[in-house]
Amino acid sequence: MQPVTRFAPSPTGRLHLGHAYSALLAHDFARERDGSFLLRIEDIDPGRSRPEFVDGILEDLLWLGLEWDDALLYQSERLPLYAEALERLKARGLLYPCFCTRADIAASIAAPHPGSESGAGGPDGHLYPGTCRGLAAADLSRPHAWRLDMAKAAALAGPLGWTDHGVEIQAEPRAFGDVVLARKDAPASYHLAVTVDDAAQGVTDIVRGRDLFAATHVHRLLQALLDLPTPDYHHHPLLTDTQGNRLAKRHQARTLASLREAGMDPEALVAALRLGELPAGYSRAEA
Ligand code: GLU
Repeated sequence: MQPVTRFAPSPTGRLHLGHAYSALLAHDFARERDGSFLLRIEDIDPGRSRPEFVDGILEDLLWLGLEWDDALLYQSERLPLYAEALERLKARGLLYPCFCTRADIAASIAAPHPGSESGAGGPDGHLYPGTCRGLAAADLSRPHAWRLDMAKAAALAGPLGWTDHGVEIQAEPRAFGDVVLARKDAPASYHLAVTVDDAAQGVTDIVRGRDLFAATHVHRLLQALLDLPTPDYHHHPLLTDTQGNRLAKRHQARTLASLREAGMDPEALVAALRLGELPAGYSRAEA
């Protein structure tokens, strides 16, 4: 089978070298195997996504010479599909409405939680304490999110796993608690949209940064609950600055646009990245 990979940036800032590295790995994985490389714009966060950053993404990828196949897919145009997946989960009694604010949750939380660095846990990296689980009469006219009843969902799905670089990983989604699948301000969360779209686009191999390894526990569970296929995963090391700090979109000086403006040759950059060489000032996180 010919592989299908994708690069799925969120248009919330300009891309940096870490994105270039990730896009290149996904692109080459597909091209080396005669497969397809897709581009998906993950623009469901209404507060943070901006059209000018979409333009920036396209400009940067084309500058790098990374061409994608098929039409660009925008998550903001696919909200009915996410709503349908939510309805399926609701119909199975796996979701509940949550009216908590971040402040409510922060106030009721005692201790940090293991999945916290990935952002895959509750707000601020904490597990949701379950305040709204089992609310008797929920008034859905009030703003609410939809959360997965994790204990119920994990029990229903049974043992699950995936392969990462060919190594079997056991999925442990319970550690993430009752994750949000639809936000108060957006009809789908990252976890839901990414799972639905990877299946809908026929993605066979997910090549992405290790920062999203933890979220895969949740994605694998959602695949099982929604009867979707499980791709093979290939999480790669993240690029950092020389002090070991992760690259961030907010650091203007680190953007691909600024490398371009400084006169960097994109072909030489891509050739070096393919050899595992990084420009001065960058390094690769080991784990
Ligand atoms: N949209 C996510 C991000 O920009 C990546 C999603 C993924 O690769 O699964 O961090």
